[in-house]
Amino acid sequence: MYRAFLIKYGEIAIKGKNRYLFEDKLVRQIEFALKPVDGDFAVRKEQGRIYVEVVSEEYDYDETVEALKRVFGIVAFCPVVLVEDEGFDKLAEDTISYIKKAHPDCRFTFKVNARRARKNYPMNSMEINAALGEKILEALPETKVDVHTPEVVIHIEIRNQINIYSVEIPGPGGMPVGSAGRAMLLLSGGIDSPVAGYMISKRGVEIEATYFHAPPYTSERAKQKVIDLAKIVAKYSGPVKLHVVNFTDIQLYIHEQCPHEELTIIMRRYMMKIAQHFANEDHCLGLITGESIGQVASQTMQSLMVTNEVCEMPVYRPLIGFDKQEIVEVAERIGTYETSILPFEDCCTIFVAKHPVTKPNLKVIKRSEEKLAEKIDDLMQTAIDTTETIMVEA
Ligand code: ATP
Ligand code: MG
Repeated sequence: MYRAFLIKYGEIAIKGKNRYLFEDKLVRQIEFALKPVDGDFAVRKEQGRIYVEVVSEEYDYDETVEALKRVFGIVAFCPVVLVEDEGFDKLAEDTISYIKKAHPDCRFTFKVNARRARKNYPMNSMEINAALGEKILEALPETKVDVHTPEVVIHIEIRNQINIYSVEIPGPGGMPVGSAGRAMLLLSGGIDSPVAGYMISKRGVEIEATYFHAPPYTSERAKQKVIDLAKIVAKYSGPVKLHVVNFTDIQLYIHEQCPHEELTIIMRRYMMKIAQHFANEDHCLGLITGESIGQVASQTMQSLMVTNEVCEMPVYRPLIGFDKQEIVEVAERIGTYETSILPFEDCCTIFVAKHPVTKPNLKVIKRSEEKLAEKIDDLMQTAIDTTETIMVEA
């Protein structure tokens, strides 16, 4: 029955010129999200609002709702019924039949909220509110009017056609992707990094990703799992360019040359350096990780400092103050959790020491890294040269 969707967007701070930019990006992202949906749509801006109109005869309502729920920048959206203006009595009839379908349990309090975008309608808004309220009470005697805190607000917008809506579906909030810069996500197969990517993308940032694998110690299936995670993130962020780096030789070399308890922290420094290389190449303005203070040995304040020391661009760590349970909740909500918990080996866990340093000292770590001087530059270059780039789309 719905032929259009009214899109509500927030971020009151957005004013003037930026508002148009924001709206244009949002329109583009909505169009993009609706592309794979069954049906044809027209997205248009009108008087500070965005409407999605269904153009085709038929369309998949559920798919459309799911797609809109993933567009950052949408605070909420309302499915709208469009009716022709054929006089007030017909409008009352249409409104009542709409209510019966949209709110089948007719025991609610309501108010009518009419608005005239077209001033030549023979009644003014107040008159429509009163007259329509009366008609509804007559037809649905179990409803009650409550103008202060109604359970249902019946919106009537008089345009060339008349819009009727009363249902509001929450969107994800945030800013439309493309309204900020671009950043490089270090994406592993775990629970945290996909959530971190989602969160930064939610602020309008386009994301790219780098994954380090260590064949044959990590399998094709572990790599596929990361691609699958990137695919889920791409449902929100748009296509993700994924760099798959073969990290085996670097890892083996560190393992051979450096104290085992320092392996993880040294490895993480090289991951950052390589991710930063690709980030620079594609004009990213920062790196993103799924780190959270104290979660594991490599995420103590000391470890984060030592890891961070090799970074020349900001490192965004949106989960820094999150408990694991809070991260899991987001992962479940956005749909990455089930994939993240599949039990494939992670390149970090393979050579991991029983007792990794939890308070690494930068000077000590740098001294250990001197033992890598002979080959590390070549190994890094080879890793970069042999990196596989995959465009991941939802
Ligand atoms: P996650 O759940 O994201 O894997 P984690 O709890 O396993 O995180 P670590 O293994 O210490 O934590 O990794 C910290 C962060 O480093 C990850 O969130 C991710 O951003 C990055 N990272 C770790 N391993 C890899 C990898 N193999 N490829 C790319 N990035 C990685
Ligand atoms: Mg991990």
